[in-house]
Amino acid sequence: MTQAKSPASAKPAKRSVKSAQARKKAPSVDNPGKVLKRSRYTKAETYEIFRRFHADNPEPEGELDYINAYTLLVAVLLSAQATDIGVNRATKHLFQIADTPEKMVTLGEDKVREKIRTIGLFKTKAKNVILMSEQLIRDHGGEVPEDREALEKLPGVGRKTANVVLNIFFGHPTIAVDTHLFRLGNRIGIAPGKTPLDVEKSMEKAVPKEFSLHAHHWLILHGRYICKARKPECKRCVIYDLCKSPEKEKFDAVPDIAVRTKAIIEREKGGLC
Ligand code: SF4
Repeated sequence: MTQAKSPASAKPAKRSVKSAQARKKAPSVDNPGKVLKRSRYTKAETYEIFRRFHADNPEPEGELDYINAYTLLVAVLLSAQATDIGVNRATKHLFQIADTPEKMVTLGEDKVREKIRTIGLFKTKAKNVILMSEQLIRDHGGEVPEDREALEKLPGVGRKTANVVLNIFFGHPTIAVDTHLFRLGNRIGIAPGKTPLDVEKSMEKAVPKEFSLHAHHWLILHGRYICKARKPECKRCVIYDLCKSPEKEKFDAVPDIAVRTKAIIEREKGGLC
């Protein structure tokens, strides 16, 4: 059965095509689009955004499995262009038999390649895992250095990987800008930038000090599960009423999740008085 067409029904259809086009152009590292000169938010608004994330999830955690600093470094290295679930599946057995650089080198590149063959770019990654392990043994006594410059000198380790390890294992307030953080920084306009490094610097300026340790996790989880690349799930967004993104979906009322999270903060404030 065909539906009767009317000018009224034609208009929303036109809008949805437009919004689909806008969504396709979600900022990405390859295509940042038009970049804002500065954040869309005042200091107070930014503070409120992170207070929401905190109220919703006070102790956010990464989703990569690891045993120690070394296995975390390997897991992050393997996670480039792969999902955390896929990496965890591959490293489950690998880390049981090789949880130190020495054991990994003894295992050898062929065996490592075999264990991680379900992950994208596994050949290059296996090679880098071995080279990186050899360098750790040679230059750092088999220990993972708590130093960005030293980390970035390791094969296969870039700024993002170094930032993740410094944040998760060593507790530094670093912001590792992956595809999700890059998109969020530009899409919601909280930390605009043309490159991942620009976004990292903007984030560092924007994030209030008391939230800087967990900011990276909150933003990754928000980008991965809520403010997704193709279609943000605004109905499930804790910062809905604070968000100034032109891509925000319009509703008649603020979604429950944002109202409830705001109420938690109000109650906490009340408790402190
Ligand atoms: S309201 Fe929508 S666009 Fe804004 S941060 Fe939330 S999910 Fe993203």
